[in-house]
Amino acid sequence: MKTVGVYIHYPFCIKKCPYCDFTSFVYSKNEEERYIKYITKEIQLKAKSEIVDTIYFGGGTPSLMSLKALDSIFESIYKHYKVKKDVEITIEVNPGTIDKEKLGFWKDIGINRISVGVQSFIDEELLILGRIHTVSDTLRTFILLREYGFDNINLDLIYSIPFQNPNNFYKSLDFALSLNPEHISIYNLIIEEGTLFYEKYIKGEFTLPDNDVEANMFMYAMNLLEEVGFIHYEISNFARNINLRCRHNLKYWNQEEYHGYGVSAYSFANHIRYGNYKNLFVYYEKINNDELPIENIEILNDETYPKDYLFVKLRLMEGVSEKEFFERFGKNISDYIPNLSLFMKEGLIKRKKDRICLTKKGVLLANEIFRDIL
Ligand code: SF4
Repeated sequence: MKTVGVYIHYPFCIKKCPYCDFTSFVYSKNEEERYIKYITKEIQLKAKSEIVDTIYFGGGTPSLMSLKALDSIFESIYKHYKVKKDVEITIEVNPGTIDKEKLGFWKDIGINRISVGVQSFIDEELLILGRIHTVSDTLRTFILLREYGFDNINLDLIYSIPFQNPNNFYKSLDFALSLNPEHISIYNLIIEEGTLFYEKYIKGEFTLPDNDVEANMFMYAMNLLEEVGFIHYEISNFARNINLRCRHNLKYWNQEEYHGYGVSAYSFANHIRYGNYKNLFVYYEKINNDELPIENIEILNDETYPKDYLFVKLRLMEGVSEKEFFERFGKNISDYIPNLSLFMKEGLIKRKKDRICLTKKGVLLANEIFRDIL
């Protein structure tokens, strides 16, 4: 029977980080109260008693959420969906935003996976990133999470930070490993237009590690994590074992159905991908009128559906089965990746049994491969 994932976007943060281009606003208790009313109404408008096997609270900083707010969202999800017993429920946590009362409540309510926005284990780098926490906050947070029995914890790290010395990234990695987490995600910092970092970057106020240094850092991380037994299962994601992969995020990469709620949240169902309004007040207005707050919609057709499939599936290190692809779309993968043979010759893509997948070198140049699909 078909199961779906539910994503809840909690857009509030203590302060805006200078590199952030997510939909996020500075936290206020009143705004949170208002937002939760709307999100529960959106669930009521959209949900149709489907079976849910993953729930993901992303942000923003969902670990700021009051217990009352979280309770209302849970009530609404359980009322309008059939939630499976073994549901995976993830919440993103920023260090320094949790306390014992919160963790006790999360445990009781069924949250069983935590994703901590560590970013770096070097205080100077956290300062450059404009984060509100220090390394000791991260440690305290991690220890507290373990004390409360959370045994599925992801640590998010960022590399390619302005002025970054690669050795500091390696130290952060070692520090992360010393905590023995179940999962590690590693992202390179992208300077997005419209952010404070973008303005500073174009004014030449900081330098970034060059492409080779950046590639060396990620290659080092891939090799080290593999050496210590992590499974590299998606471009940026590593799990201690196959059962500790993030089941919710796997839905995105396997082109499975998920329903997003809240400002800017994306959903995918029946070949249609759609995104909610990013503007909080337009989002409120639409829901007030009993309308779904959809700002953009992409209907995948015979031409775009296979491309989209390759685009999301190739992010997975297990790659795409040529046989499955042909059975699904009646075409070969090479019809959609014109430079497939070249990529193979250059060692960016390899064939593993009947699957086409990225090599480590391909991971570093994934964007070039994806541009070829588009
Ligand atoms: S905490 Fe995360 S979502 Fe909030 S401003 Fe910083 S990067 Fe953006």
